[in-house]
Amino acid sequence: MENEKVKCLIIGSGPAGYTAAIYAARANLNPVLYTGMMFGGQLTTTTDVENFPGYPEGVTGTVLMEDIRTQAEKFGADIRFGTVSDVDFSERPFKITIDGDKIVIAEAVIIATGAEAKYLPLPSVHQFRGSGVSACATCDGFFYRGKDVAVVGGGDTACEEATYLAGLCRKVYLIVRKNHLRASKIMQHKVVATQNIDVLYEHNTKELYGSPLGLEGAKLLYKMGTPEEKEVDIKIDGFFLAIGHHPNTDVFKKYIQTDENGYITTFGKSTRTNVPGVFAAGDVMDPNYRQGIVAAASGCKAAIDLERFLVETE
Ligand code: NDP
Repeated sequence: MENEKVKCLIIGSGPAGYTAAIYAARANLNPVLYTGMMFGGQLTTTTDVENFPGYPEGVTGTVLMEDIRTQAEKFGADIRFGTVSDVDFSERPFKITIDGDKIVIAEAVIIATGAEAKYLPLPSVHQFRGSGVSACATCDGFFYRGKDVAVVGGGDTACEEATYLAGLCRKVYLIVRKNHLRASKIMQHKVVATQNIDVLYEHNTKELYGSPLGLEGAKLLYKMGTPEEKEVDIKIDGFFLAIGHHPNTDVFKKYIQTDENGYITTFGKSTRTNVPGVFAAGDVMDPNYRQGIVAAASGCKAAIDLERFLVETE
């Protein structure tokens, strides 16, 4: 199998990975970055981004990621299309297999593989992605000011997003499949105390409908699969999914410590993992903020941590 030695390997091409590449390249570490399948990460699946500093007129997620990538390449980052299929972090230098047919031997590694929001497996949900369907209220809620929207889920994220949207929208339906919320008590109280949130317990989404201009409503099933099953129609402009995320850590789990939800554990305020020389940045280690700018900052931290590590160990 082909072998290549590198000083700094970055895995992932979202804001965390690309920003780490900018910093590592400017520190003369000649970083090599493998993009993974989703070139540019989660932001490329959204339309307009209005909250990333530096773009007062807003920017599309795709252009934003191309800009950060161009900036990294300008300083010499070597950005390649490829997916990590296996790792051996048992000793330094680390061995990372790319697409099953090439091994990169790296002195230090930054994992920035992100997390994926879970979507309901309905064709109409995918049809309206970016034109009514979103998995991030903080990112997209602003586009639905004064309108009616729905949030799906009964956990902390769903309650947090519903409460956030209630401050912007006219009405928020919270669609919960069970007859109770799973969220922490404090979040449940917030939801119940918010007048313009209508919790629809024991409701499942059957399908979304609308026109090429956007979403118009959702058909729900109350008490799905029971004799009392009933179809319920709600008119909404936005449909927010909050049914969990899946951090992309499966390939690292043999060596890298994660929490019970699969997010990489980092130590103190650093991006250090349990394996010295392996760092983690962005959504792959952050279940709380899930914002591009936070991921970018985290990528910056990882590159600085990595550089210091190499200086200390050389
Ligand atoms: P959770 O896994 O906690 O909750 C997911 C919710 O989505 C559940 O209510 C689940 O229903 C529902 N769900 C899953 N699949 C479907 C489906 N196919 N159709 C309808 N509903 C579905 O995810 P969260 O993102 O809410 O939270 C993840 C972790 O992050 C948790 O530990 C949470 O406490 C934490 N968190 C903490 C926050 C804070 O402290 N501020 C903020 C946000 C998250 P069911 O209950 O029926 O399984």
